[in-house]
Amino acid sequence: MGIPREAVRLVGDPPKPRMIAERSGKDWTAQFNPFAAKRVQALTALDLAGYIFKKNSPSCGMERVRVYNSKGVPTRQGRGLFAAAVMEASRRLKEFLRSRLGGYATRRNKPDLDGTSQLSPYLHFGHMGPHTIALAVQDAGAPLQDRAAFLEELIVRRELAVNFVRYNSNYENFDSCEAWADVTLRKHAPDKRRFVYTARDLENAETHDPLWNAAQKQMVLTGWMHGYLRMYWAKKILEWSPSPGVAYDTAVQLNDRYELDGRDPNGYAGIAWAVAGKHDRAWGPERSVYGKIRHMSYESTSRKFNSKAYVERIRPWREIAHRQADSP
Ligand SMILES: Cc1cc2nc3c(=O)[nH]c(=O)nc-3n(C[C@H](O)[C@H](O)[C@H](O)COP(=O)(O)OP(=O)(O)OC[C@H]3O[C@@H](n4cnc5c(N)ncnc54)[C@H](O)[C@@H]3O)c2cc1C
Repeated sequence: MGIPREAVRLVGDPPKPRMIAERSGKDWTAQFNPFAAKRVQALTALDLAGYIFKKNSPSCGMERVRVYNSKGVPTRQGRGLFAAAVMEASRRLKEFLRSRLGGYATRRNKPDLDGTSQLSPYLHFGHMGPHTIALAVQDAGAPLQDRAAFLEELIVRRELAVNFVRYNSNYENFDSCEAWADVTLRKHAPDKRRFVYTARDLENAETHDPLWNAAQKQMVLTGWMHGYLRMYWAKKILEWSPSPGVAYDTAVQLNDRYELDGRDPNGYAGIAWAVAGKHDRAWGPERSVYGKIRHMSYESTSRKFNSKAYVERIRPWREIAHRQADSP
């Protein structure tokens, strides 16, 4: 913004204001938000005990910050953009520690229960760093098995993903495939597919599989899909695409377009795991299309949790979205 910077103010809708320079009228919002995310991450790494925010500031004020309407009249209903991001991530972490960390080890693979932290978008944008979360979880009163299961995901799985994109320049495409997986998928490339869907069919959740369609809709309508279903979702894209290369590309495109936490090492590693054998091993029996890649069937996946309840929970959101799309 330069030093000294021009004075800025918040303008528009108080829950979602824009940051506008007072004299030039320049809109700083799109530049400020990623800056705030990076700054939070840098501060988080310092393991501070707290921050001092500046009262009334359009970036740092915690409450009663002025937001101006189109006529230039202020209301005192705003929150600085930087402070808002830090406070929301912190609220969500506290809520997870209080109500969902206990039982995480058994509930995390049950999409009907929503037992995970849902912190991935905040981690992705840097509103909160992994150190803060890991230390809070370590010190929480939840049973050891739940804390250990969570830290395995946050530290081991997350670091493996960062390592993958750091050392494999093909992380965004099928050339990242493990050698054993490449051999088995090539062998099964000519196998007849029972269902083949285009990227458009998949994007619109128009498949024969109600569980897959619900997961896809959860991602498109809310920007977040449950982790257990992300595995199933990508495996089915492999099964229903004309080739593993097309499947990889489609999964990356949809994931990066619709997940709030998309365009992230975890996403590329997750897709490489599901489609291309990354961080996995060969499985038997050898199957059509999958070869020795680990398989997930509709029957076994939908039996592992209350899939009917999950599909029913998503259904009203789909209906609302359809109604909105149809209305003039
Ligand atoms: C096909 C596929 C696509 C995926 N796409 C993404 C993506 O775009 N962005 C993303 O952040 N994650 C992605 N993941 C990984 C994982 O599913 C999500 O990180 C997790 O579901 C996010 O929900 P949560 O924050 O509630 O997770 P929690 O269970 O609460 O875990 C806490 C944190 O640990 C990390 N974590 C959890 N599971 C994994 C994992 N399997 N691999 C690496 N880190 C993990 C994440 O940072 C997560 O926020 C993908 C996985 C698969 C199989």
